[in-house]
Amino acid sequence: MDSLREQWLILISTPIYLFIIGIELLLSHLHHKKIYTVKDTITNVYLMLLNGGIDLLFRLFYIGIWQYFFMHAFYRWEHQGVTYWVTLLLAEDFLYYWLHRFDHEIRFFWATHVTHHSSPVMNFTVGFRSSVFQPLYRFLYFIPLAMAGFQPIDILFMYSATQIWGIFVHTELIGKMGWLEYLMVTPSHHRVHHGSNPKYLDKNMGMFLIIWDKLFHTFQEELSKDEYQPIHYGLTKNLEKTNAFTIIFHEWIEIAKDVSQKNITLKQRMGYLFGPPGWSHDGSRQTSKDLQQIELNQNGFVENNTSEENTEFQIQTS
Ligand SMILES: [Zn+2]
Ligand SMILES: [Zn+2]
Repeated sequence: MDSLREQWLILISTPIYLFIIGIELLLSHLHHKKIYTVKDTITNVYLMLLNGGIDLLFRLFYIGIWQYFFMHAFYRWEHQGVTYWVTLLLAEDFLYYWLHRFDHEIRFFWATHVTHHSSPVMNFTVGFRSSVFQPLYRFLYFIPLAMAGFQPIDILFMYSATQIWGIFVHTELIGKMGWLEYLMVTPSHHRVHHGSNPKYLDKNMGMFLIIWDKLFHTFQEELSKDEYQPIHYGLTKNLEKTNAFTIIFHEWIEIAKDVSQKNITLKQRMGYLFGPPGWSHDGSRQTSKDLQQIELNQNGFVENNTSEENTEFQIQTS
């Protein structure tokens, strides 16, 4: 019965995905907007299949771990009523926010998540451009849910349900959504998330609710043409090769090169692995915060809050 519920979710969502992708293709064609390329779309589907395959193979393992914590839960729910499901939704979305935030702020995790951000265009299929190896560690973030008495199968179901919303927000088709902008992650918020413009880096990390970004100061509204430059989708340095191997492994290859450099300390090697993306032991590269500060300075706003993480690492390692 429980697994039927997930199959039902897939059965309902697949035709909806195909329908909205069809509408988006048609409208982009009518408006002469080149937001779809054949190669990018095939890559997105291929990466989704790889991610889904790893998730399925690994599922028995991580459900077993959740089951262990569920058996030793510190709380038992008497009814699986509205309170149970709403609490699960809020708690899971909150934990996902932190998973996604650490994916962006720690290079070790960014090396996996970077795949999702590597498309230079924005359309519904980018939602399927999955962080291929994320299923190997994502379950760790949801262990507290099992400890709080949520059934493993319900944790999985809620993740799949919120992920459907997470896919729908990948589009240029929909503008701002009125009052929903206050509460939910909308296409406008998620376009910002995929922007490589300095102001937009590491912003709007939520999957379903935008309240976490507002609470923890990672929220950025999509700005109009009068206020800021148009969104440039993709990475701050886009990939030269766009084959699946490069898209999945390029950051790992760069990390291996950085960590194995000669004449740097162990702490500096750790900085390349667990520091923010763009951190370097000699300050020759820029983190998101550095790029934001440079942009602020160029615009005449001189602020004194240079990258705290970068400064910290420089102090530790010098
Ligand atoms: Zn992201
Ligand atoms: Zn996305």
